[in-house]
Amino acid sequence: MEEKKLKFNTKAIHGGQSPDKAYGAVMPPIYQTSTYAQTTPGGHKGYEYSRSANPTRTALENSLASIENGTYGLAFGSGLAAIDAVIKLLNPGDEVVSTNDLYGGSYRIFKQIFEKYGITFHFIGMQDAEVIQSYINQNTKLLWVETPTNPMMNVIDIRAVAELAKKHDILLAVDNTFATPYLQTPLDMGADIVMHSATKYLGGHSDVVVGALVVKDKALADALYFIQNASGAVCGPMDSFLTLRGIKTLHVRMQRHCENGRAVAEYLDKHSKIDKVFWPGFESHPNHEIAKRQMKDFGGMVSFIPKSRTEADAIKIVEKLKVFTLAESLGGVESLAGHPASMTHASIPKEEREKSGVVDALIRLSVGIEDAGDLVADLEQAIG
Ligand SMILES: *Cc1c(COP(=O)(O)O)cnc(C)c1O
Repeated sequence: MEEKKLKFNTKAIHGGQSPDKAYGAVMPPIYQTSTYAQTTPGGHKGYEYSRSANPTRTALENSLASIENGTYGLAFGSGLAAIDAVIKLLNPGDEVVSTNDLYGGSYRIFKQIFEKYGITFHFIGMQDAEVIQSYINQNTKLLWVETPTNPMMNVIDIRAVAELAKKHDILLAVDNTFATPYLQTPLDMGADIVMHSATKYLGGHSDVVVGALVVKDKALADALYFIQNASGAVCGPMDSFLTLRGIKTLHVRMQRHCENGRAVAEYLDKHSKIDKVFWPGFESHPNHEIAKRQMKDFGGMVSFIPKSRTEADAIKIVEKLKVFTLAESLGGVESLAGHPASMTHASIPKEEREKSGVVDALIRLSVGIEDAGDLVADLEQAIG
C-alpha cells in the first residue's frame, strides 16, 4: 500500500520501515559501528562513516519523516542540537521572530550562543498575526513557533503564521515537542521545518536524549544534512533504536496522555485551593477554538497556580507529590511535576519570564499514563 495513504496509527509502526535486508529482522538492528568495510576505495553499500549516516539512524529518520508527513528526517543528539542546526542556516545580520513563552533552553541557545554571532531574536506573543507582522523586516529569515507553548499552554495558529511566512518568503519552524504528530502535523499547515525534542513524547520512556528535524523540501533537507554532518551532533545507534521503539506506541500513549490530562485539568479547575489552570481543552481557554481546529485532542501537559499565588506553596505541593515525580522533562509514561521558575525556565530572566506569565507560583505537570484516579488522589493529598 502506498505509504502516504496510511493512517497515523499504521505509520507510527510501519512508516518508512522494512525488515532488515540481512536476516529479515523486524526491528532494525543496532548497528553499533563507526565505519564500514569497502571493497575498493568508494566501494561501499551506502554507509561510509556513522557521523554521515548509520543504518539504525536511517530507520529512525525515515520513521520521523513518515509520521510528520514530511519527506526527509534528521536525527540529532538532542533537541537543542536540532535547534542549533536550524539556526546555523542563518547568517550574521539575520533576524528571527520567536514565541516569547518557549522552552528555556531554546531561549538560552538563541540569546547566549547565537546573538554573539550577529543574529537578532525577537521574543513576542504570536497569537496575533498583526503583531508578528510588525516585527518582520527585510532581515527576517526565520519564524520560530512553539505550540502549545511551554509552560503557559497558549496555542498559536500555525496556518496563520505560515501564511505570513509565505508572503514574506521567510522560513517557518515549529517545535512540535508538546503536541507530537499524533495531535498536529505542522508541515501540512504550511510550516517548512518541524523540530522535536524526541527525548519527550516520541521516545516516551524517559530513557534517551534525542532531537529531530523533518522537512519536505529537498534543498532545505540538503542544507540541514550538510550542517548535521559538518557539525556532527548526530543521534547514536542505540538511542536511534530506543526512539524508534518509542514511536511505535506513540498513538496509544498519546490517547491515554490526553484522557489523563483532561481528568487532571478538570479536577484542578474545580478545586477551591487552585487559582488558575492552563490547559487548551477548556472552552474558556483564550485559544480554545484554534486548538480545536488545529489539534486532534489537547495533550497531557497541564500548568496551574495555587490560590495563595506564593512560590512557597507551589514548592510545598510539588514536594508532597508521590505518584508524580518532581523532575525536569516531560512526555514519558510516568507523571512528572516541575516548578518552571526554578527548573526548566530558570535560564530566562525573571522579568522576561513573568512577562509571559511564568510566575514563581506556577506548577507544570506532565500527566503520564498511570491510572487517572491515582493521579487525582495524589494531587488531592498534596494540595490538601
Ligand atoms: C526539552 C525540550 C527541548 C530541548 O530538547 P532536548 O532534547 O532536551 O535537547 C526543546 N523544546 C521543547 C519544547 C522541549 O520540551
